Amino acid sequence: MQTDILLIAETIENELTPLSNELIAFARKLLPNKSGRLLMVIPGQAVQQVAEQAAEIFGIPVLGLEHDGLRYPNPPLLAAGLQPVMEEVSPSFTCLLHSTRGCQLATSLSVKNRASCITAIESISQEKEQTVFKRSLFNGKFVMTLAPQTAQAILTILPGAFSRIGNEEPPPGSGEAEVRKIDARSAGFSPKGLAEMEESDNALEEADVIVSAGRGIGKQENLDLIKNAVSIFSNAAMAGSRTVIDQGWLPYQRQVGETGKTVSPRLYIACGISGAHQHVVGMKNSQWIVAINTDPQAVIFSISDYGIVEDLKTFLPILVEKKKKMFDA
Ligand SMILES: Cc1cc2nc3c(=O)[nH]c(=O)nc-3n(C[C@H](O)[C@H](O)[C@H](O)COP(=O)(O)OP(=O)(O)OC[C@H]3O[C@@H](n4cnc5c(N)ncnc54)[C@H](O)[C@@H]3O)c2cc1C
Repeated sequence: MQTDILLIAETIENELTPLSNELIAFARKLLPNKSGRLLMVIPGQAVQQVAEQAAEIFGIPVLGLEHDGLRYPNPPLLAAGLQPVMEEVSPSFTCLLHSTRGCQLATSLSVKNRASCITAIESISQEKEQTVFKRSLFNGKFVMTLAPQTAQAILTILPGAFSRIGNEEPPPGSGEAEVRKIDARSAGFSPKGLAEMEESDNALEEADVIVSAGRGIGKQENLDLIKNAVSIFSNAAMAGSRTVIDQGWLPYQRQVGETGKTVSPRLYIACGISGAHQHVVGMKNSQWIVAINTDPQAVIFSISDYGIVEDLKTFLPILVEKKKKMFDA
């Protein structure tokens, strides 16, 4: 079973995490002519159903790897279980998310397979017929271009850098699911449980629409304007620039930017945000960007698809009212 690209999805309690979709978006960029062979691995304790669903939705072969110890993230155990698969399929690229477990797994697979490891990838390009990968350094001040030096490479991709896939029709009949029990032991650790922290918040990663507040909202009470705007979209969430988070108006989990989250929703509405580099790196890969700002020279307009030069306190209530009328009509 020769495979060009192996995608290692992530699960929690046998559920695929939404960010795993980004692996598919990344693979499509890695194989622009769509002629390569892909295989997605879904690890977990009991993943038959999720593997079948993924094969159908993504239209690619899926291999479920089951072990009682994989109900929760366990990179050393998964690395041991993945090794025979790596040897069997011999992938040119093994792609993981740049998450804590993705990075732990990547280093282990890289050492075991003597493969180059390139982490936190933000973009791909072709240079002299070679695929190269870009990542930022020093808080986004530099961009580094890297090429693997071995026939096999292990890659971790920055969450949000590659948009989640849309509703493209999967290639008919190309997705099949197989599930194997793995017989692996790990000297690593044995996870005993997982408790959600009170402040745990994945709203930004999972939202299709993000309405984001900047210093231009003026005062905390005006967050209600942002909340109302969020309410007119389905699957939408509220975010903020660092200025808003530093004031304590929104929790840190809602900060977008270099020292916050990297997001790539279908629509990002920046309200009263100037467009500082540290903010822009966290949202520039959104599919559509709309900015509302009173200053026509605001830098945010240079990366926006639509720019509205207006006071957000005037514009947002009109937007909400018009949208509601459209639904009521
Ligand atoms: C190491 C480092 C890391 C950083 N990390 C981050 C990060 O992760 N995320 C982040 O966001 N920032 C980050 N920053 C801060 C960043 O440099 C900017 O200071 C910050 O993004 C500015 O926030 P802002 O756009 O909300 O405010 P401002 O830059 O003050 O912009 C406010 C905007 O609102 C407009 N405005 C004012 N009133 C209105 C109104 N009534 N209606 C419409 N528009 C109005 C103004 O014209 C202005 O353009 C970082 C900085 C450093 C040094």
